[in-house]
Amino acid sequence: MDRRMSMTETNTDTDTVVTIVGGGVHGVHLAVRLLQADLIDRHELRIVDPAGLLESFRRKCRQCGMVEFRSPLVHHVATDPFSLRDFARARGRENELCPTTVGAERPTASLFFDHAEWLCDRYDLESVRLDARATDIEEARRSVEIETTQGRIASQWCLLAVGHGHSFTYPEWATELVSARSVTHVWDPAFDPDAIGETSSVGIVGGGITAAQLATTLAQLPGRDVVLFARSPFYVETLEASTDWMHFSGVTERLHAHPPASQAREELVADARYDGAMPPYVFRRLRRALEQERIELERSEITVATEAGSTVVATCRDGSAFCLDELVCATGFGSPYDGKLFRHLRQQSTLRTGYRGAPVLDDDTLRWRRQDGTPSRVAVSGVAAQQVLGPFARNVIGARRAGELIVGFLESELDVGKQEARL
Ligand SMILES: Cc1cc2nc3c(=O)[nH]c(=O)nc-3n(C[C@H](O)[C@H](O)[C@H](O)COP(=O)(O)OP(=O)(O)OC[C@H]3O[C@@H](n4cnc5c(N)ncnc54)[C@H](O)[C@@H]3O)c2cc1C
Repeated sequence: MDRRMSMTETNTDTDTVVTIVGGGVHGVHLAVRLLQADLIDRHELRIVDPAGLLESFRRKCRQCGMVEFRSPLVHHVATDPFSLRDFARARGRENELCPTTVGAERPTASLFFDHAEWLCDRYDLESVRLDARATDIEEARRSVEIETTQGRIASQWCLLAVGHGHSFTYPEWATELVSARSVTHVWDPAFDPDAIGETSSVGIVGGGITAAQLATTLAQLPGRDVVLFARSPFYVETLEASTDWMHFSGVTERLHAHPPASQAREELVADARYDGAMPPYVFRRLRRALEQERIELERSEITVATEAGSTVVATCRDGSAFCLDELVCATGFGSPYDGKLFRHLRQQSTLRTGYRGAPVLDDDTLRWRRQDGTPSRVAVSGVAAQQVLGPFARNVIGARRAGELIVGFLESELDVGKQEARL
């Protein structure tokens, strides 16, 4: 049976059937799943992203010096779990599958992204990308109006996959220096580790995986002084949470027992995440660099930082002071509901939000509920769906699960649309 639905058959005047906002891991996976299921034709699909497909994630990996993935080789943007392994084998790149002491091998970042790019080419996803940022989403009768920096799109369905949307956190002492650009954040799109001078002194604030990766990468150049400001003991865990959460059954029911978008759900997810932890292979590299004195470890917390000419003087709680050419915060992401688009939507739209602006999502379909409780034509994939899917919602495996739920409901909705159009 031909499951595709063309624009003429639907009898609507919408430009597209499905618009995906965000072309990262989650957006690309949704697009691949939709096209692979043959639910829509490519010309009925639009991906809105100003950064380029997977570019924002690629940039973050480069910014923190991540060369190997933390997740196993079966976690990637295709639907067949062995697609990446087969891709590596066919190209003689098995040596880019890194061994682990537990579980499956992990791909290098270059293998992961080359495989993802190959898939994007296979489905010609670049041809459906609109180089624009979505600024507003409004539901109309039987469609969704998506306002973008390149004009308005009318679509039957909108899938939101915007990640953290540039929401990241700074310590309080850094606020003034950030505006003066003396202190930066590793996730700031403008941060370029390659621009750091070979003989600079660099301070890195944070004690988790990102800080450790950045510190070991920057410390590779012998002339560079790297100071790691990590106030808490290092914490080692293979993954971001217990593997029970990776199966999206059994444990997620504990979340669903609480009201959607509630404080109770948010706290359960926060408790389940091993925030600030680093995997053993990152810890080993850090320990080696510390032993070889390529990195200096400062256990005290910075309390004040001031600009002094082209340097920053960081003073710690224990009274020690450091004069640094660069000070980079690796202090994590902000709230998943505080990106520009989410903030705008919770103020303007008819979509219901709850605790700290979390979207009220349907647990079976990830459809965002309207103020009157009915499911809207907008669904959410990624970190903003963590109250439904748990701590791995943001990860590659979370994209897989979200894809199953979203494409699952779209399959029946598009079938109904098709039948109605025939009448
Ligand atoms: C350094 C790093 C390493 C990680 N390693 C792993 C790992 O090994 N395994 C794993 O499973 N997970 C890992 N993760 C977690 C997760 O898989 C990634 O964060 C992943 O990139 C999340 O995908 P995403 O599509 O939700 O978000 P993103 O990759 O951030 O993509 C979101 C996209 O939305 C676009 N966008 C945002 N706002 C708008 C808007 N208003 N309009 C249009 N487009 C918009 C952005 O430009 C971006 O391209 C890692 C995360 C980081 C930061």
